[in-house]
Amino acid sequence: MRALQLKGPQKLDLENVPPPEPSQGEILVDVEITGLGGSEIAALQSPGLRPLPNIMGHGLCGLTSTGQRVAIFPLSGCGACHHCNDGQHQLCNDWNLIGVQKPGGFAEQVSVPEGALVPLPATLSWEQASFIEPFANAVNAWERAQPKSTNSVLVIGSGSLGLGVTAMARDQGCKSIFVSDLSAKRLQAALALGAHEAARTFSREFDIVFDTVGTEETRTQCINQTKKNGKSVFLGFAEQSLTIDFTRMIREQKTFIGSFVFSRQQFGKAMELAHGCCSEWVRNLSFDDVAGELMAYADGNFNTIKSALRPRKIL
Ligand SMILES: [Zn+2]
Repeated sequence: MRALQLKGPQKLDLENVPPPEPSQGEILVDVEITGLGGSEIAALQSPGLRPLPNIMGHGLCGLTSTGQRVAIFPLSGCGACHHCNDGQHQLCNDWNLIGVQKPGGFAEQVSVPEGALVPLPATLSWEQASFIEPFANAVNAWERAQPKSTNSVLVIGSGSLGLGVTAMARDQGCKSIFVSDLSAKRLQAALALGAHEAARTFSREFDIVFDTVGTEETRTQCINQTKKNGKSVFLGFAEQSLTIDFTRMIREQKTFIGSFVFSRQQFGKAMELAHGCCSEWVRNLSFDDVAGELMAYADGNFNTIKSALRPRKIL
């Protein structure tokens, strides 16, 4: 089968590899759509914890051999520790994601545990389904922040994570949702999902600010635009570290919240929210397009709302 193999920084090769052989309890899925996300953009620059060569792609959907349309819940853990028992597998010492530590959706086929299959409703297109995984991250971030409906909320970044926070905020009855992004197209999508105002920047402060980008610049903006006693929520991964004015954070009693992936229940909520997305927001890619698209994102070209590999649709 064809697969994109990450072999090192800026090295993503299209190769013919043997199809995966399902072990006990696993089944083979034909990949229909795999979203390109921030972690793939970052990994192409620096593979980090991925074993090389690596087949990336953790936001994926496909067809089983019986023709069932499914999304893949990519996260698992040891299954025995207290974090796993709480459904927070990302906190397990043995957490792993299909498409990070295990081969993922940048391939024609993937082998996954049977328990990872989440049936897709007929009401959701493949393109809409590609928003489920990023939206599930957003649901977790929202629930960790525990906003009140009267809180003012700023979402920095209107890619699929930011759109997810926007959709969740609207769903939960938030009455003051602001979204900032450099791309007019992405801001339009945020308005369609229920943002009350969308603009390149806002000069005021907010009760809760979500940074869905994760650069030094956006994290600093996130902290600076959080009101005293407010919450800064971080879920973007673009850069690893940050220098901050810690004294000010203490004096202004700000709460910093980290948010990473999601539970099964949050994945289900994300599926519901993904119905609000338009199929036209997704740019469908062939295997040959993926490396160039990831590099373009890394260079700051964020005009596309979402891009996705379509191994069976675009040949
Ligand atoms: Zn565990």
